[in-house]
This record gives sequence, structure tokens and C-alpha cells, in this order.
Amino acid sequence: MRDDIDVLVHEVGPRDGLQSIQTIFPTQAKMDWIKREAAAGVPQIQVGSFVPPKNLPQMADSAEVVRRSLEIPGLTVSALVPNLRGAENGFAAGAHQIGVVLSVSEAHNMSNVRRSVAESLDGFSEIVAHRDADDAYKDIVLSGGLATAFGCTIDGKVEVSAVMRVAEEFLKRGADRISVADTVGYANPKQVRDLFDELYRTVGDDVPVGAHFHDTRGLGLANAFAAVEAGVRELDSCLGGLGGCPYAPGASGNIVTEDLVFMLEGMGLRTGIDLDGLLAAREIMERHLKDEPTQGSFVTAGRPLGFEPATAAA
Ligand code: ZN
Repeated sequence: MRDDIDVLVHEVGPRDGLQSIQTIFPTQAKMDWIKREAAAGVPQIQVGSFVPPKNLPQMADSAEVVRRSLEIPGLTVSALVPNLRGAENGFAAGAHQIGVVLSVSEAHNMSNVRRSVAESLDGFSEIVAHRDADDAYKDIVLSGGLATAFGCTIDGKVEVSAVMRVAEEFLKRGADRISVADTVGYANPKQVRDLFDELYRTVGDDVPVGAHFHDTRGLGLANAFAAVEAGVRELDSCLGGLGGCPYAPGASGNIVTEDLVFMLEGMGLRTGIDLDGLLAAREIMERHLKDEPTQGSFVTAGRPLGFEPATAAA
């Protein structure tokens, strides 16, 4: 990670946000949003997902969005892929980081991708082999994502030991980093703290670990705080909290990027991000939304008097 930031905020709105709403953004609208957010200092953006367009028409232009995002100086461009086919397309488009997500919960993984967890892990190994077979792909960072790590809408409770097992398997099979997700917004801060403590004990302190929280039950930022306290230095978030939860109609989506940056900067943790720039990016994004609601408190309340962001002070 860059040494001028303390916590890496990974914007996932153009993927997680857009894939959960009906509106299909034109490619140029995505690019306007991505460019403005990168200009605000956001170091990494997940710009798309390499899935069959008939499943997710919102993501059909992901190859072009990746290619055009690569022209933005300094931006780390990430994308999500469900399988080897998607990875081939993501690698070819040139994404810096490719995320592969499976659900720790067997039932959730089966209903999502009709594969057992073990089969999904074998699929991940194929993706690693495909990267390692081509010298042009050697710098691509492969991220192993653990969805439903804090609970599942089908299985309910998910055991911490199961999360550890999948994390270890990902690393054994060649993941460069892992990302732990509260896909359905079940987690509470103590659970987050305990899980990440256990994860660092299991995989060691050197493995880059990210966290992905949804604000489905209002605990998103509290959970992000707990993760940071446990040592996590990479957090996913979504500008304006765009998107919902496919398993909880009407619920809010990812934690809000502006609110997260406000919290971190106020705590003295540098993100490299300018809050006014984020609000400008939010305006650009909102222009293209139809009836989709956005979230966020910072946009309404603004800066507290005397607020000194850590980034500006540096
Ligand atoms: Zn998500």
C-alpha cells in the first residue's frame, strides 16, 4: 500500500452499487463518475464485473470501463469475476486487481453459483493457474473474497472456523489478499473485532486483508470502525451508499464512502481523499439515477466547525 495513506478506501459503487439497481448507466456516465472520484483522491475503484451480460446488463461494458479507467493516472483499477471465463476477460482488459468471491455458507454458495465451496475453491485455483501461465499477467493481484462471513440469509449463523478454513485455502491456492464481507448486513462490531482478531492469528499480520460491509441494519460504520481497530487497512464502500441488498428489499447498500472518509480522517487516519471532491463526484453520480435512493449523512450535515482532516494536515 502507498505510504502516504493509512487506510485504503476501495470504492465499489460502479460495481456493487450499480449491479443492485435497475438504472443502467451509459459508459460515459460511469467514466464521468469514476474520473471525478479518482480526482478526489480515491486510490482504488472497482469499476465492473465480468459476468454474462444477460445476467447483469448493468455490467455489460465492463471491459471498456476497465480499459478507459486504466488511463486515469495513479488509480488502481479492480474488477470482480465469478469464474475462469470472467477472469480471462478481466485479465485481458488489464485490470490491476481481480476479485473472486465465494460464499463461506455452503447453501448461499450453492444458490448463487450452483457450486459447493470446495468446487468454487478449485475454480479459484484455475484462475491462479491461468494468471501464472502468462507473463503479461504476473502483476495482477488476485483477491479471494469471503461472502456471508458474518451470517447468511439461508444458513443463518456462519461459524468463524469455516471462515478461517476458506481464508487459509484461498492463500494456499495463491490469493495475494483476502477480503471478508458482511454481504447481508448481519454483523455487529464485537463480532467483527473477534473475527478479524482470529483471522490475523490464523493467517498472520503480513497478508493484506480487506473488509466489505453493508449498512443493512445500521451498523455498517460501527463495523468498519471495529475492523480498523482490529488492524484492517482496506475498506470497501460506495459513494452515496448506492445499491441495496438483494436479500433484503428496501434495505440500504454498502457503507457510504463520504461518511467513511469523514470518520477515518477525523480519527487521524489518512485516506488521501478530499471530501469536497467526493461530494462533487456524488452529484455527478446522482444525475444519472432514476428513482434509486442514496444514503449518507455527511452530504446533509457537512463539515463540523474546526474539522481537520488527517490528509490535509499531512
Ligand atoms: Zn456487497
